[in-house]
Order: sequence, then structure tokens, then C-alpha cells
Amino acid sequence: MTQPHVSSHPDKLKFITDEKARLEREGLLIRIRTIESPQGAWITVDGKKVLNLCSNNYLGFANHPQLKDAAKRAIDAYGVGPAAVRTIAGNTVLHNELEEKLARFKGVEATIAYQSGFNSNLATIPALVGKDDLVFSDELNHASIIDGCRLSGAPIIRFDHCNPKSLEEKLKEHAPAAHGKRALVITDGVFSMDGDIAPLARIVEVAEGFGALIMVDDAHGEGVLGTNGRGAVDHFKMHGRVDVEVGTLSKAFGVVGGFVAGTKVIIDHLRQKGRPFLFSSALTPADVAACSAAVDILEASDDLVQKLWTNTRYFKSKMRAAGFDTGRSETPITPIMLGDAKMAQQFSRRLFEEGVFAMAIGFPTVPIGKARIRVMISATHSEEDLNLGVEKFVHVGKELKVI
Ligand SMILES: *Cc1c(COP(=O)(O)O)cnc(C)c1O
Repeated sequence: MTQPHVSSHPDKLKFITDEKARLEREGLLIRIRTIESPQGAWITVDGKKVLNLCSNNYLGFANHPQLKDAAKRAIDAYGVGPAAVRTIAGNTVLHNELEEKLARFKGVEATIAYQSGFNSNLATIPALVGKDDLVFSDELNHASIIDGCRLSGAPIIRFDHCNPKSLEEKLKEHAPAAHGKRALVITDGVFSMDGDIAPLARIVEVAEGFGALIMVDDAHGEGVLGTNGRGAVDHFKMHGRVDVEVGTLSKAFGVVGGFVAGTKVIIDHLRQKGRPFLFSSALTPADVAACSAAVDILEASDDLVQKLWTNTRYFKSKMRAAGFDTGRSETPITPIMLGDAKMAQQFSRRLFEEGVFAMAIGFPTVPIGKARIRVMISATHSEEDLNLGVEKFVHVGKELKVI
């Protein structure tokens, strides 16, 4: 076997080893675990069977028999790879079918599917605004929104988190229309680290008053909020008033990919202008077919969504009764606020030893001093699973003197 080549000028890489040492010192170095089983309430991690409290597999679709069957049939019919970007080599009928199904599900004219939710933001924001325009962005918006805004070149005006009043003040102060600029207001539907919901109705009213384009990234709202999991816009009955909804197919939908929902005018524009659409290959037939099956299941029944919420209410009330601080969460995303990043890492490590997989989250994903364990509730959990989770949290919490 050949040995890998090592750098002949290691000094050039000192900035990397220094940074790694710093992350380690501050309890911020990320260690990636290896999963050796399908996703579910219980998974095998680094050789150990543990209760899974950290996946975005809200509805259990990541290992759902109907999705797996659809993916297998798609592979038999269309093979494994898309072979190129869609604008050059075309796409399968499955891609068109998924986009049509998603449009019906979301109650919009059209949708466009991308390779990920992250790409959906990178594709969409620069297609809507440029350096002469303005973006108004919630200060806690997801990293992919921030990167999409940066790519657009438009100045980014941050408004206070979930604060329509602050948005209004910023819009007044910058008076985009008066200066002939387009304004784009962007918010997460559900905030991924705190689990709180954007006050969408008020944000839309404010933005409409200034003629701004309105975009919601609903990665954690899809499959969770609204009728049969139709998302935040449905939850707030804001149909037709949000110009662009970004969704992901990799969380509640259980597969991988992202999409944008909106009017035909906007979606057609994104097919011409979205760079990750024009310059990166399509989702595979198996991904697309599995996502289509997920939409079918959601259309047919809200049982899984209801189970998700029953589990969420049950777990949160038990954790609060035990003395844990669950922050401002209103959704299945349940942060257990601990403050110190090293404490959060130690807590997570002890939970793992006790057979519970729940990850510590620290800076830069959340602000310094706001480290936490982020528990993700799923419809796949049974009541016994949740009881066990609470019991282990209490055990470790007492040991580390958190409660
Ligand atoms: C997870 C997430 C994304 C990225 O979605 P992927 O499909 O995993 O790329 C985008 N926006 C928000 C708000 C998210 O939470």
C-alpha cells in the first residue's frame, strides 16, 4: 500500500493547525460521528446503539418503506445519475413530476428543485437583488441566507430577531423605493437553533407597506407547520403574499435537495438565472422519486405530523418540569440551554455514554455564551423513547449540576 504524501512546506499550513488548537481549547472543535444504521429513533453510532435525538428526520421519511420503494423503482427505470446540469442534458419526467406535486402541495403556481436547501438560497437571492438593491435580513437567519445575500452583492441590513417593528424602522431609514432600489425582506420560517417561529403575518404587512419582495426560508417549517405540514406560509394563512418560499427536501422530507415555491414568473426567472441550477448537476432520479413519495404521504394524511407534535409537547413539558431551560422554542427543535460551550460538549459526551445521541452546539452556530444541546423530536420516537431521553438528561444534568 502506498503512503499518502505529506506537505513539504508544513509552515504554510500553520494557520490551520493553530486554528484547530484554538477550537479544541475553547470546546468548539467539531467531531463527526459515524452512523452504521439507517436513520430512526434508534441508530448505531460508532458501534453503539443509541437513542437518536439529533436528526432532522421529523417524520421518519429518511428510512420510510414507501420512499425506499420509490427510489428503487426510479433507479431501475432511470439509473443512478443525472449525467449533467438540467439546462444542458434535460431532466427526467420524475423531476417535472416532483416540481408539479410540490406546487400543488404548497398551493403555488410553480416550484423549482435544487440540489440542496443551501443551494436554493444561493440560487435565489442573487437572482432577485443586486449591488444597487437592499436586503433586509433577520439577524439570526441561516448561514445559507447570509451567503446568498453576500453573493448578490446587495448591502445587507439586519433587523432585530423576529421583530417587525425593527424591520419597519430599517425600511423607513433606508427608504429603498425612494432611491429607486429593490428591497428584499428575508426571514427563516422556523429558526433552526432556537425553534422559534417568525411572526410572518406582521413581517408581511410591514414589507408590503414598502413594496418589498418577501422571502421565507422554511427549511424547518416544511412537514412541521401548517395543514399536513405545508409550512409557515400556510400556518399563517399568508398564501399569495410571500413571493418566494425556500424549502429543503433533506429535513422533514427525509431525502436530500431543496426547492423554491412561488409564482410562475419568479420560478421561470430562476430557471434562467439560478447559478446552482445552471452550473451544477441535478438531483438523482432516486432522490427525486423518494421526495415525490414523501409529498404523496403528506397529501394523504397528517398522522405523522400530528404524532410529531404530540411527541414534541410531551418531551418539552417533561424537560421543563425537570428544571431545564428550553429557550424560546415553539416547535420540535428543542434547545436545552447550557451557556458554556465546554459544558455543553461534556454534557453531550456523558449523554452518549448513557446511550443518548444529542449534539452540543456552540459558536459560531449560536452566539458565544449560548451553547446548548439541541434535541430534535421526531414522529418515530415512542413514549418510552422520550421517557428514557428525559431520564438520561436528568441523570447527567444532576451530575453536572445544571439542574
Ligand atoms: C438546513 C437549512 C438549510 C439548508 O438545507 P439543506 O437542504 O440541508 O442544504 C437552509 N436554510 C435553513 C433555514 C436551514 O435550516
